[in-house]
Amino acid sequence: GFRCGIVGLPNVGKSTLFNALTETAAAQAANYPFCTIEPNVGNVGVPDPRMQQIADIAGSQKIIETQLGFVDIAGLVRGASKGEGLGNQFLANIREVDAIVHVLRCFEDDDITHVEGRIDPVADAETVETELMLADLESLERRVPNLAKKGQGGDKDAKAAAVALQKALDLLREGKPARLAVPADADEKRHLAQAQLLTGKPVLYVCNVDEGSAATGNAFSARVADMAKAQGAGAVVISAAIEAEIVTMAPEDRPEYLEALGLAETGLARIIRAGYELLHLLTFFTAGPKETRAWTVEKGATAPNAAGVIHTDFEKGFIRAETIAFADFVALGGEAKAREAGKLRAEGKTYVVQDGDVMHFLHSN
Ligand code: GDP
Repeated sequence: GFRCGIVGLPNVGKSTLFNALTETAAAQAANYPFCTIEPNVGNVGVPDPRMQQIADIAGSQKIIETQLGFVDIAGLVRGASKGEGLGNQFLANIREVDAIVHVLRCFEDDDITHVEGRIDPVADAETVETELMLADLESLERRVPNLAKKGQGGDKDAKAAAVALQKALDLLREGKPARLAVPADADEKRHLAQAQLLTGKPVLYVCNVDEGSAATGNAFSARVADMAKAQGAGAVVISAAIEAEIVTMAPEDRPEYLEALGLAETGLARIIRAGYELLHLLTFFTAGPKETRAWTVEKGATAPNAAGVIHTDFEKGFIRAETIAFADFVALGGEAKAREAGKLRAEGKTYVVQDGDVMHFLHSN
């Protein structure tokens, strides 16, 4: 599955957020920089109101949400790229995630120490990004000459990789992240992706604001929004304290609490949605009397790719996909009526899955 790594300086609210995300107390929040040492992974159901509509029509006994993984990555401090604090561990863990959720402290509280002694989320973001850029720079300064040498020796793939990674290296030398590298073609894009550069991953900034600013944001989060815009990154405003409170409440009590705070939905729902956007993911559904279930694929995935998410055998033996757009499924009242109305399409191997497709796969396995 797809995974987002939660990063940020110590005491910004990562653990509080992660606990709320997974509704567990597994990662203990404490006013101590190196509280969370082992990375913890939480798979969080992606809320999607369309599922209840489908389940009502299909008469499904249960609803199974698709999941997005969140990894709570141990606190980073200045000097991590030189192995300080839990630096090396941090960098290794971050290499394995698909996207970075960067939590920034946008609340004031004199009782909670800031590791740099002041509240400045833009400077904090730069501190973390600088460590990641230094780590990428160091790794590419070793790798690019090696690849170039292999290229000169006749290894075509190494030569192409050297050209692609040189673009990232040039950017890093100018103090810019590798995600700004523009690949010339699909091959260069693949080499850049395979390099798993820390600053090559998409970033979502999460502004952790005081409870009173959850609906509106504050001056700190406004500055982060400007920074995110300039970088082509995403940004959301949440209050980790509110999220922590909400998960302790009975589900039926939550809407009223949110409304009183002026919030349309939880911060977690916003983070999950933004994570989906960031990773260019979309959802398709399967529906039957047993269950209505949501599944995740990357935008551009074909019908056989989608079948493969359910079972690898379905992809291998793929014949066709009977597909109904969500809007048709709901407007017409389910599969049988959609079929009658000619809105059930038989799609083949090259069909590109659309968000909300209700699909049934025919396969030879
Ligand atoms: P981490 O080191 O980034 O994982 O930070 P934690 O989640 O452990 O939070 C550090 C401290 O800040 C804890 O005592 C939290 O209760 C507190 N904290 C987290 N979010 C907020 C917030 O939005 N407002 C306030 N006042 N305190 C918070």
